[in-house]
Amino acid sequence: SIPLSFFAGIGGASKEGILIKGSNYLETLSQTKYVVFDKTGTLTQGVFEVNAVHHNSLDEAKILEYAALAESASSHPISKSLQKAYGKPIDRSRVSDIQEISGHGVMAKVDGVPIAAGNHKLMEKLGISYHSCHSVGTIVHIAIDGQYAGHIVISDVIKPHSKEAVAALKHAGVEKTVMLTGDVKKVADRVASELGIDEVYSELLPAGKVEKVEALLSGKQKNAKLAFVGDGINDAPVLSRADIGIAMGAMGSDAAIEAADVVLMDDDPVQIAKSIKISRKCIRIVY
Ligand code: ADP
Ligand code: MG
Repeated sequence: SIPLSFFAGIGGASKEGILIKGSNYLETLSQTKYVVFDKTGTLTQGVFEVNAVHHNSLDEAKILEYAALAESASSHPISKSLQKAYGKPIDRSRVSDIQEISGHGVMAKVDGVPIAAGNHKLMEKLGISYHSCHSVGTIVHIAIDGQYAGHIVISDVIKPHSKEAVAALKHAGVEKTVMLTGDVKKVADRVASELGIDEVYSELLPAGKVEKVEALLSGKQKNAKLAFVGDGINDAPVLSRADIGIAMGAMGSDAAIEAADVVLMDDDPVQIAKSIKISRKCIRIVY
């Protein structure tokens, strides 16, 4: 039978906006020693600001328009930011043949013209030479009809509580914090060092994130548990692979909320340490 204090723990956590999907997760949570974070939408707001448009030939407004239209079917935070920067309603009838390639970007036809918008990996895949950019930020390269047209530099903002969240985990006895991201090294390293994260792995495809989590799982002691925290886009496989999957509930995708064991309703990473503390309190009452 399930001890009464477990119900109290789940109830108490839910009052704090932390949904724990079953009493078995309380024990696992209480033994968390590794916390692995996704970056975008988890430690950062996942709301990108468009900083600059560097172009070859076309004017900036036109490049932004093509990018926003080509991205119009994507639910990626980068796409949402480009729609916002474009600022005009999207005429979906101008867009066809949409293809989203996870960890790369999108390809679509706009007014019948092939457009590619994504990172350097997408350009390499398509055999299009691109300009490397020295600005710190996430770079979205744009190609129009197979020709390089320029790039948009966008930057994501760290959540106000992220630093405090990492410190609170250390304080709660978490031994190692890790950040995994598909974003470029320059951006990833800056975020990780600003937050005091122990290890960082960048430019990962979704399958690469699963591999990293598996390597961490096999390298640790059995009773030291690993939690993965993500916002969802492409995160479902990692969420289910971890000992404990924690999803951001407000911005997170339905698939992530489904795959997670714990859901943070307000997307605040400080809640991770709080949920570990709540779980330990219940376990202490029982044993
Ligand atoms: P993260 O690990 O930060 O959540 P993703 O795995 O979703 O990132 O994406 C990794 C990288 O792939 C992004 O930083 C971006 O360069 C590129 N990318 C993914 N989706 C898109 C998109 N819709 N438009 C442009 N670039 C994208
Ligand atoms: Mg993500």
